[in-house]
Amino acid sequence: MEKKAIDWSNLGFSYMETEKRFVSNYKDGKWDAGLLTDNANVVINECAGVLQYAQTCFEGLKAYTTEDGHIVMFRPDLNAKRMADSAKRLMMPAFPEERFLEAVHKVVEANKAFVPPYGSGATLYIRPYMFGSNPVIGVKPADEYQFRVFTTPVGPYFKGGAKPITIRVCDYDRAAPHGTGHVKAGLNYAMSLYAIMEAHSQGYDENMYLDAATRTKVEETGGANFIFITKDQKLVTPKSSTILPSITRRSLMYVAEHYLGMEVEEREVYFDEVKEFAECGLCGTAAVISPVGKVVDHGKEICFPSGMDEMGPVTKKLYDTLTGIQMGHIEAPEGWIHRVC
Ligand SMILES: *Cc1c(COP(=O)(O)O)cnc(C)c1O
Repeated sequence: MEKKAIDWSNLGFSYMETEKRFVSNYKDGKWDAGLLTDNANVVINECAGVLQYAQTCFEGLKAYTTEDGHIVMFRPDLNAKRMADSAKRLMMPAFPEERFLEAVHKVVEANKAFVPPYGSGATLYIRPYMFGSNPVIGVKPADEYQFRVFTTPVGPYFKGGAKPITIRVCDYDRAAPHGTGHVKAGLNYAMSLYAIMEAHSQGYDENMYLDAATRTKVEETGGANFIFITKDQKLVTPKSSTILPSITRRSLMYVAEHYLGMEVEEREVYFDEVKEFAECGLCGTAAVISPVGKVVDHGKEICFPSGMDEMGPVTKKLYDTLTGIQMGHIEAPEGWIHRVC
């Protein structure tokens, strides 16, 4: 198979149209068989539910080439399950989990010329999503939906090594108790745009959101969960019903415990404790872990001992182990690696 002539190591995180995408429509109470298509455009009615009332959810995962030349995906079954949970909360019919797996598999296979080669640091980003597609003007769930999966090659998240970032404690809230913070809804991102642009304009890379009810506990950022490392090398991660359950974070918890013999605590984390931690990282599919060097709370700085030059040592071990599992250098737990071809 000929790879596309793409400068893999200089790709950024932006959309590039690839050859095939999967589309399935839900109508009269059922999903159709679906198909792969060349058409990258969606045509929907002006009054479609997604356009009026934001009835949409999405997923994000990656396919990449392992050292021995296979194209694989990392734990896509968890994306399938999470998307079904998101759909349910948004009154959308879930796309069956086994069909989700089949769809992402097929789309990656059909676009394998766009899967970056091993060693480039780049990956093929996979975006499954669904939305209410028929006209809805009175507020209610749509009757018809479209499920789609497209792919786009994306560059290495960190060019020239992972530099620790600076984040601020945010005055806006991401998710209310009993709201939609735990599902991957587009609406959670729409309302975070104001806060992230403001953070950027003030020179911060990300927002640390606190719990909306008491503003005393750490939640997450706009699109990544927190992990903290204590001075005695425990992994601590916030527990909250309004955090999006990151697959990367859940995998890191497993890796910490079962591969690195660390103690792992998923519990409420008070902001007051943050200054006591030795290391801090943000986890998500895009970067795996972004190290955080500094948290600024209205002018008060918390500087982690790991500093602003490189990832903390424990974070680095976690990062190397998880990416080693993904790339096939380290044996993966049963079922974590889905081989496409
Ligand atoms: C997608 C997402 C994450 C990261 O989840 P992964 O499964 O690790 O990619 C974290 N927080 C939010 C709000 C998200 O939408």
